[in-house]
Amino acid sequence: MKILAIESSCDETAAAVVEDGTNILSNVINTQIELHKLYGGVVPEIASRKHIENISAVVDKALDDCNLTFEDIDAVAVTYGPGLVGALLVGVSYAKGLSYSLDKPLIPVHHIKGHICANYLENPDFKPPFICLVASGGHSHIIYVKSYFEYDVIAKTNDDAAGEAFDKVSRVLGFGYPGGPQIQKAAESGNKYAINFPRVNMGSNGFDFSFSGVKTSVLNYIHNAEQKGIEINKNDIAASFQQAVVDVLSDHLIKAAEQYCVDRIALAGGVASNIPLRETISDKAAEKKFEFCYPRSILCTDNAAMIGCAGFYEYQNGNIADLSLNAYANLDI
Ligand code: ATP
Ligand code: MG
Ligand code: FE
Repeated sequence: MKILAIESSCDETAAAVVEDGTNILSNVINTQIELHKLYGGVVPEIASRKHIENISAVVDKALDDCNLTFEDIDAVAVTYGPGLVGALLVGVSYAKGLSYSLDKPLIPVHHIKGHICANYLENPDFKPPFICLVASGGHSHIIYVKSYFEYDVIAKTNDDAAGEAFDKVSRVLGFGYPGGPQIQKAAESGNKYAINFPRVNMGSNGFDFSFSGVKTSVLNYIHNAEQKGIEINKNDIAASFQQAVVDVLSDHLIKAAEQYCVDRIALAGGVASNIPLRETISDKAAEKKFEFCYPRSILCTDNAAMIGCAGFYEYQNGNIADLSLNAYANLDI
C-alpha cells in the first residue's frame, strides 16, 4: 500500500510516499528555518503563508522523486494536529482536495504518533510494546506504546517542553533559532560540570518534567554574572544546561521502562537528535539490557515519512476521515 503523506504542523512543509508503513519511497522537506531565524522563532502567520506557497511543489516533488503519479497512490495521510492551526489547515485542506479528486481514502494522523512511528522507519523490526520519550519543540512526554495504535501518556511536562528550553536558552546566549543544534555544538567546547543547574522531578510517580526552572536558572546565572561584571563562558553554560536536561530526560525514561516492565525503549521528536542524549540513554540501556531505538536525525525533526508510517497503522485500525476533517491546535494522543 502506497501512502502519500503531508505534514505542515509547524515550519516544515513536507510530503513523502511510504509503502506498507516502513518503506520510504520519497521524503521531501522544505524547511522555513532561515526565514523564521530572523525573528528568533516561528512566526505562525508567516509559516501558514509559506506552506500555501510551497505545498503543491513539495507534493509534486515527493511523487517525482519516486517516479509515481497521483494515480499510483492508494491513500492520502495528513497531520491534523497538534500544531499551529493556520499551518495545519494548509496541509489538511490540500489533503482533502487530493483525497476528493483522486477518490482515495483520507487518513488523519496525530503529529506526535508520527514522531513515535519514525522508529519503525528506522528499524522495521522494532515493535511495540515499548516506552517512548517524545522530546520536541512543543512536547516532553513519556508514552507507553502498547501496540501500533494504543498509546498511554504516562508523563508530561508541567511547563516548557525540552526543545522549547533549548530554543529559549539558545536565544539568551545569542546563538539563535533553532536552539538545539547550536547548544549541542557550543557544548562540545564546554565543561558540562562547570555549573550545577537544577534537575527537577515532578508528579506522583516522579516521571513528569519541568524545564522552566532550569531555563530560569540559566537566565539568573547570566544576569548575576553581568551585574558582578564577571565574564561568562557560553560554552560552559551550554554544556551544563544540556547535561541537566539530558540527565532528567534519560533518568525518567529508564525509570518508566522499569516500572512498566518493558525492555524496549525509544526516542522521538527533534530533541531525539541530540547526540549526548542518545549516548547517555544508549549506555543506560546497555546496562539494563534494554533494546533501544532512535530515528536518524532527519526522521526526528518534522517530516512526512513519519506521517506516512503512522497513517499506515491508522488505516489498518480503520481510522479514515471524511471531508469534514478539521485541524486542531491541541489534540490528545
Ligand atoms: P512538536 O513536535 O512538539 O509539535 P516541533 O514539531 O516544532 O514540535 P520538532 O520538529 O519535533 O518540534 O523538533 C524541533 C525541536 O527540536 C526544536 O526545539 C529544536 O531546538 C530541537 N532540536 C533539534 N535538534 C536538536 C539537538 N541536536 N539537540 C537538542 N534539541 C534539538
Ligand atoms: Mg520545525
Ligand atoms: Fe514535531
